[in-house]
Amino acid sequence: MAKKISILGSTGSIGTQSLDVAEKRGYEVKVLTAGSNAKLLEEQIRKWKPNYAALADEKAAKELRLAVADTDTKVLIGKEGVNECAAYEDTDVVINAIVGIAGLVPTLTAISKGKDIALANKETLVTGGALVMDEAKKMGVKILPVDSEHSAIFQCLEGMNKKDELKSIILTASGGPFFGKTREELKTVTLAQALKHPNWEMGAKITVDSATMMNKGLELIEAVWLFGVDPSMVDIVVHRESIIHSLIEYNDNSVIAQLGVPDMRIPIQYALTYPERYESPVKKLNLWEYSNLTFYKPDYETFRAINICREAITKGGLYPGVANGANEMANYLFRQGKIGFLDIADLVEKATEKTPIIENHTISDVLEADIMARETVKALI
Ligand code: NDP
Repeated sequence: MAKKISILGSTGSIGTQSLDVAEKRGYEVKVLTAGSNAKLLEEQIRKWKPNYAALADEKAAKELRLAVADTDTKVLIGKEGVNECAAYEDTDVVINAIVGIAGLVPTLTAISKGKDIALANKETLVTGGALVMDEAKKMGVKILPVDSEHSAIFQCLEGMNKKDELKSIILTASGGPFFGKTREELKTVTLAQALKHPNWEMGAKITVDSATMMNKGLELIEAVWLFGVDPSMVDIVVHRESIIHSLIEYNDNSVIAQLGVPDMRIPIQYALTYPERYESPVKKLNLWEYSNLTFYKPDYETFRAINICREAITKGGLYPGVANGANEMANYLFRQGKIGFLDIADLVEKATEKTPIIENHTISDVLEADIMARETVKALI
């Protein structure tokens, strides 16, 4: 029987590539949701005939409901509608490809229904890591990484015998469009330059996060939660070609890597077919086409966001959530042309200084800390 899937964030970069994988694998798409792109969601509804769809933007959702009134798809409205879609029961796996903390509550909702999650939305684990991993354990659901680095580590770890044999996790980073630039040079970089990623075509927010290297900081936090390791065990290496997607190091200093051409459809498909593998539409890796694979130590002084995130997850509690909320706002303000590139990390750092200390925080505490972080950033500029 065809696998049934739900895709949250279906109009985005990961969402559309997930549909591509679904088409090739012959999956049945039961649920599609997005933020405000009614036009593309309508096209997807007409093609995939899901039972439910939703848009977080209420006005756009109402328009969509009218536009697809001739179909059998029920359109739900607003963020509650997206969340109801996440709760849909007649599905095997929920792909969360929403951008930002907007993905957190839907992840928890899908877990509460016992659904496995193919997780692209890294902000889910950055903000709600403890809550999400506890709930997943309680419900016996799998969190299957879609992020290419985490999928790589997940694949490398399959050969591990005992957890204490693992010495470190090594995340690769492309270095983004500003690799090698000095702080002086970064003062004047533009949005257009930040959006020119050397190897990946992604949504605007994550592309800017890659330019600041906040993305690698967020991934460090994501790795801590996904693989249950101490932050000190997560290392980062700049690898410009994005062929090695990440590595693990064993206690005997043996290092295992996962390689492939940079194409998100490999990790998306693996999250959906795990533990099985199938042919994919992705190009074969011919290593001779990449005779120079290069590696560098990250420039932590220039790209400060990585260490801000490392400090946040080391302190724990609401620190990572505040760093994420501040980054979402600062990243947005940079894309709006309201702040400079270097302001992003500065604002994130200043906001984390105001992190409330709450033991055993709840989901409400996480969501409040997120709002506080955003307000702090707005007040600072
Ligand atoms: P995009 O911006 O391309 O897509 C985001 C999706 O989320 C869209 O469908 C968008 O709808 C929807 N969305 C936006 N805001 C909301 C909201 N408030 N509520 C519900 N849905 C919303 O992002 P990406 O696909 O690039 O990234 C998605 C996630 O995957 C991110 O967390 C990113 O870090 C992660 N990721 C992405 C990779 C990539 O290659 N793109 C690689 C690894 C991880 P609309 O189109 O209507 O705005």
